[in-house]
Amino acid sequence: MEVVLAEHAGYCFGVKRAVKLANDAADINQGQVQSLGPLIHNPQVVNQLAEKGVKKVDSLDEIDEGTVIFRSHGVSSPELMERAIEKGLQVVDATCPFVTNAQKYAKQLVDEGYQVVMVGDREHPETQSVLGHAGDDILVTESFDEIKALLNRFSKKRLGIISQTTQTYGKFSEIVVQCLEICEEVKIFNTICYATEDRQTEAEALAKTVEAMVVVGGRNSANTTHLADICRSKGIPVYHIETADEISPDWFPSIELVGVTAGASTPDWIINNVIDSLKRI
Ligand code: SF4
Repeated sequence: MEVVLAEHAGYCFGVKRAVKLANDAADINQGQVQSLGPLIHNPQVVNQLAEKGVKKVDSLDEIDEGTVIFRSHGVSSPELMERAIEKGLQVVDATCPFVTNAQKYAKQLVDEGYQVVMVGDREHPETQSVLGHAGDDILVTESFDEIKALLNRFSKKRLGIISQTTQTYGKFSEIVVQCLEICEEVKIFNTICYATEDRQTEAEALAKTVEAMVVVGGRNSANTTHLADICRSKGIPVYHIETADEISPDWFPSIELVGVTAGASTPDWIINNVIDSLKRI
């Protein structure tokens, strides 16, 4: 079976930066490093960091000393930085600059008086961080009907739209076009990050040329899940796995060409193990 790997697969700029900052902090502050929430959405990397002494905590209240790392998805409120400094903690801010941009644009739209919609998943930590920075009045949804119902409450329909950084371009543009049809004024910031766009475009192109796709990354990773959905839309079998151990030869009964891509938080060593396993089938 021939295996083709997408050109942009695995670690993006923001995740690479966050993992490096966490490793550096662990090297300097042996055993006193805490990440507020999982550093990235990849359980294997989070476990590796835990072995190096980077402990995951859920709240600042659990930390009394040492270093706190703010994860790549950002934290739920700007006050957390002040509280951490007041507690005497050393702060390492690993928030991805693309997430910081989304927070900034959301706040700008709110300040300019737009009803703001973020096309994304309300439960995701990144959207929670945007709400924490720009206010809870933002509607986070992937449903145009919900946006329409909200706008029906206002006589003047002025809408500001941003996107979760890992949203698919297709879904974002579909919602934008629908909103243009019913609003008097729409201000849009395309906050999908380039790493997400690159991976989605290549996954789609690759899925059109192979007989099956294997998508590697955390099940809790939004961008990996979107990659799998994009590949599935091409009508081929798609397997979303976290590690090579999950691969079954039964998935590829008469398949000669399989494509592989990986989410932005998947490290090279996991991707290489997957490729080796597939080549052995
Ligand atoms: S996927 Fe994009 S927004 Fe998320 S960490 Fe990577 S570069 Fe940043």
